Amino acid sequence: MNFDKKTFKQTPDSGLTTAEIASRTTQFGSNELVAARPVPLWRKIWQHMSDVSSLVLLFAVGLATYLALAQNGGWTKTIVIGAILVINVAIGLYQEASAEKSLAALKSMSLPTANVRRNGTIQTIAATEIVPGDLVVLKAGDQVPADALVLTGTNLAIDEAVLTGESVPVEKVAYAADEVTEEQQVYAGTAVTAGTGLIQVLTTGMSTELGQIAGLLNKTKQRATPLQGRLNRLSSWLTTFAVLGGAIIFALSVWVQNQGIGDSLMIGVSLAVAAVPETLPIIVTISLSHGVRRMADRNAIMRRVSAVETIGSVDVIASDKTGTLTQNQMTITKYWTPKSGTATASDLLSPAGTTLMKYLGLATNAEITQVDGEEQAIGDATELAAVRWLAAHQMTRQTLEAETPRLSEDPFDSTKKMMTTVHQLADDRQLVIVKGAWDRLPFKAGTPGLRAGQQAHDAFGRDALRVLAVGYKIVPSTVASDDWDNLNRDLDLAGLVGLIDPPRPEVIPAIQAAKQAGIMPVMITGDHLVTASAIAEEIGILTAPFKAISGEQLRALSDDELRAQIDQIAVYARVSPSDKIRIVQAWQSLGKTVAMTGDGVNDAPALKAADVGIAMGITGTEVSKEAADMVLTDDNFATIIAAVKEGRTVYQNIIKAVEFLVGVNFAQIFLMVGAVLFGWGAPLLAEQLLIVNVLADGIPGFFISQEPGEPLAMQQPPVANDESILARGLGSRLAVRAVTFTILTLGIYAIGRFGLAANQASIGMTMVFLVLALGSMIDIYAIKDRRPMSWATFKRNPLLNRGLVVGILVILAIAVVPPLRQFFSLAVLPWSAWVIALTGVFIPTIVLEINKRWQQRRQRAAQLEVVE
Ligand code: ADP
Ligand code: MG
Repeated sequence: MNFDKKTFKQTPDSGLTTAEIASRTTQFGSNELVAARPVPLWRKIWQHMSDVSSLVLLFAVGLATYLALAQNGGWTKTIVIGAILVINVAIGLYQEASAEKSLAALKSMSLPTANVRRNGTIQTIAATEIVPGDLVVLKAGDQVPADALVLTGTNLAIDEAVLTGESVPVEKVAYAADEVTEEQQVYAGTAVTAGTGLIQVLTTGMSTELGQIAGLLNKTKQRATPLQGRLNRLSSWLTTFAVLGGAIIFALSVWVQNQGIGDSLMIGVSLAVAAVPETLPIIVTISLSHGVRRMADRNAIMRRVSAVETIGSVDVIASDKTGTLTQNQMTITKYWTPKSGTATASDLLSPAGTTLMKYLGLATNAEITQVDGEEQAIGDATELAAVRWLAAHQMTRQTLEAETPRLSEDPFDSTKKMMTTVHQLADDRQLVIVKGAWDRLPFKAGTPGLRAGQQAHDAFGRDALRVLAVGYKIVPSTVASDDWDNLNRDLDLAGLVGLIDPPRPEVIPAIQAAKQAGIMPVMITGDHLVTASAIAEEIGILTAPFKAISGEQLRALSDDELRAQIDQIAVYARVSPSDKIRIVQAWQSLGKTVAMTGDGVNDAPALKAADVGIAMGITGTEVSKEAADMVLTDDNFATIIAAVKEGRTVYQNIIKAVEFLVGVNFAQIFLMVGAVLFGWGAPLLAEQLLIVNVLADGIPGFFISQEPGEPLAMQQPPVANDESILARGLGSRLAVRAVTFTILTLGIYAIGRFGLAANQASIGMTMVFLVLALGSMIDIYAIKDRRPMSWATFKRNPLLNRGLVVGILVILAIAVVPPLRQFFSLAVLPWSAWVIALTGVFIPTIVLEINKRWQQRRQRAAQLEVVE
């Protein structure tokens, strides 16, 4: 037999050996799609050189050189501006590289895995380690890790939409004859939607069909996030304003001040450079990648950077109950049978109870084994509970199956909510066992105990127990053991079991936190309405005005009806995965941002439709992870809330950076224009303005992305899609800061030039230099904390403190150390000027702090009014 895609003989049933794996790894490399060729350095430099502020700087360097040549000397400007240009580009490159690095790390955290058979045992490995010839075990929910041939397949269906665009799953069959056909092959990147199979890998990595088109995929660009979009608009608006300010200064300088064209142009250009918020895009990038890292530390792996921002602004979090809100540690606590009624599961069982337990055990696939003295549990939590119940009464599924071997299985799925197994009885008959949701089991009409069973079911549900019903019947061997239409009907009732699945303790405070943050938590479950409501009440999701509805009620609602009442519905019970997408879309049609969790194959469409699709790292299928924007490594609802907090912190830090950068930029424009209008000439030289801009903008602005979150982040409603960036008081805070600095610096200039000296411009200039640089560095403390400043404000961001100390020392050195002072044309200040300047430095901080407290008092008053 020869499969010959690449001359691979059939791998023996035990799989590849360690030696073969090693040699093939060397020969074929890692099974991954190689990213597009990295952008060369010169290209990156070119990109940074061609943004507006670099171009303006470049122009300024040229101009300064021309002036120096023309005036025969005065190379200061050329040197300073040239250095600033180099620093700007270098910082940009460095930031970009570090952001890229943290993204690469992120990618490696969400690597898909695969189950392979090697050296005779099945093991889970990273999909990248697969080599040609590997035997891979596939089950529903897996992603096919490489191009391969199907060796065995049971109902194996594959969604090949990634390759073909065709979303209807394709049936695959086992390779039989020498001629290999399409339907005997599976391809990397496609998803198993149903069935199981064993495949032998033919090609890996870039040689796969997906690899052939990966070149195309690499070209798709990342779209800007809403926030980036808003900031880009703000930036271009500010740039226009800065260039306009520069032009005005130039015009005033030439026509009002009668300065030379060259010098006037120089100061105009410098103002434009200073006022362009060139660090803003960089700060956004660092803040986002910083957020990605912090979320990863808290067990939330982001699969798209933009999701960092989106998760911070979700209005609704729709979460699965089982395993996410609860612990997924199920235990059978009670059972009920028609003969003996309700009883405690751990007590000695009645005969009917024993039969119920045996039937339940036979109809499960879970397994608990001892590996090196440690318990290893494989399978669904619900079924593990059944296996544990057997063990508690000294029985195992294996001994039961030895007596009544299983003939066939109709597997569980969360749409039909039941599962059937058929067993061979000693006499020539078959035992059919169906377990599942009480209201889904097809009992024979008139079966005794249905009324009492309903009551027992409801009573279990009110105790927050998940209920599993067991039905059975005995049929002659003539009935085909896979004739499900025939087997799944006319059942007798064996009984019910009630399973407790305790809430995760950290979920209760997390739900409170969500509500306080203006987010609506919503529970979604396949469990019965009564059970779901009981748990939802226990954990605080289902409270006063909200209600719980069943999937049936949901499907009876039209889209319009659903939209009209969706904000009242906190619990959806007995839903199928296909209902989830309707819930997402109804919320979205109201303009809300929705996060939705999911773990199964069928959840993938809802995860894709949601603004933030959240997959489960432990219990989730590969397909659901692939469809998600975020993966929880601990499957825990509380982690979602932690991610929301980090997302909001990122947003807040970016807003703080805007507040910090933009306010002073405006002030600089007003200062320059105002001074010229007063007939004082430029109050700062081009090189002074530029060095202030680099140090005082760059250092604090950069470190603000490291600022830890404030409690406030979770006390405000989410940011709406169409909310202006200037909302929530930012606009007025910006105005206050710009006006404060404008008045302060103009005043200081006047005092310095006319009060302390007899019309000596350089004294005024030096004082403005100090006040503008130091004042705008220090007031970061009033900006970075939305709460009133306290000692803690200074302790929360040590990196910022260190950066500021360096910045302040450099500014003071420039003003004091003679060569530097002369280089920047600063004057020696009398002590009175020092006192006034260093006092002035604190004024903006004080004004901002007073304004902050005043703004908060007003907000609180407004809130009180709303409450009354
Ligand atoms: P959830 O999303 O909350 O896990 P499911 O859709 O998986 O809900 O389960 C819904 C109902 O189906 C349960 O209340 C239970 O009655 C039944 N059920 C759950 N797991 C199994 C299983 N493995 N076999 C048979 N029935 C099951
Ligand atoms: Mg389930």
